[in-house]
Amino acid sequence: MTQFSFDLHNTDGKARTGIIHTPRGDIRTPAFMPVGTAATVKAMLPENVRATGADILLGNTYHLMLRPSAERIANLGGLHKFMNWERPILTDSGGFQVMSLSDLRKMSEQGVTFKSHIDGSLHEITPERSMEIQRLLGSDIVMCFDECTPHPAPEDVAQKSMRMSMRWAQRSRDAFGDRPGHAIFGIQQGSVFKDQREESAEALKAIGFEGYAVGGLAVGEGQETMFQVLDYAPDMLPADKPRYLMGVGKPDDLVGGVKRGIDMFDCVLPSRSGRTGQIFTRHGVLNIKNARHKDDPRPLDESCTCPACRSYSRAYLHHVFKAQEIIASMLMTWHNLHYYQELMAGMRDAIAAGTFDHFKSQFHAQRAQGDIEPL
Ligand SMILES: [Zn+2]
Repeated sequence: MTQFSFDLHNTDGKARTGIIHTPRGDIRTPAFMPVGTAATVKAMLPENVRATGADILLGNTYHLMLRPSAERIANLGGLHKFMNWERPILTDSGGFQVMSLSDLRKMSEQGVTFKSHIDGSLHEITPERSMEIQRLLGSDIVMCFDECTPHPAPEDVAQKSMRMSMRWAQRSRDAFGDRPGHAIFGIQQGSVFKDQREESAEALKAIGFEGYAVGGLAVGEGQETMFQVLDYAPDMLPADKPRYLMGVGKPDDLVGGVKRGIDMFDCVLPSRSGRTGQIFTRHGVLNIKNARHKDDPRPLDESCTCPACRSYSRAYLHHVFKAQEIIASMLMTWHNLHYYQELMAGMRDAIAAGTFDHFKSQFHAQRAQGDIEPL
């Protein structure tokens, strides 16, 4: 059986391209993972998500444990079978969404207890329970249970939080056990404090993981601060393992992250924006709601090969969005995911060719032009 492994193929500056091998298929890096929160990437069939170029999806432990429950999914053959996605799945630990969505009851060294945002029922997640849930789901890449330190956090608060997450990382690794073909990733914390990021990286390396995430970013600190942390944080993690920036981001965040040595990203932005009419193209962002599109027979982007651009006009997309037709979410989500995957493919090719800096300046130059002129 194929084991979980990572081959680094090319580097260009700090940017890297390679392949993560798993028994469920290869993941080309840098990779963008669409988010399938409730066992679906909203408005998309799994085969369509694959057609955009996605090698891996992200599933949310918090949502799935509450509904329909990890045990039910396990009894039905695991998450891959349940949602009809046979390729790799990464699951988060549930920690972040407990903090952001639930009515948190108590956090202690043991773990967190909280009330479900769906029906108010009481639940507990510990590092051990998070590992059990992710195993029941059948996740290929399991994330350590940690506390995502809020931003801003005073230095002593961030340090206390990071150190607890490192103890939880050890408990997560222990509970994960030995599962050939599956991987567990550690998560670096330490907020915006370089010495804490270093301490966290050392603690994780001492435990040993198949991959490492940079956590605690994209929590409201802004792109400039995020890039400042990314100027040093990924370098502290092992070069021969995948590095994953959690919950990021906008297209320019991805390009800036890859430049700083990140290999994997996930974000709800392209899929969520597809449902709210926000469209990403190489020329930046456009809003399909705007009246300027009402009579425009041109596609969102004439160079895009997605179904929304091949067969439909801006005028049509504007109309179905205004009329709240389901096809609006389908087409615009497809386009956004397609754009994101094309962006990743472009970066992979540029890194392999040693032309990443040129790619990056072209990317910014095209965006600076803005959307095509109204008719
Ligand atoms: Zn398109």
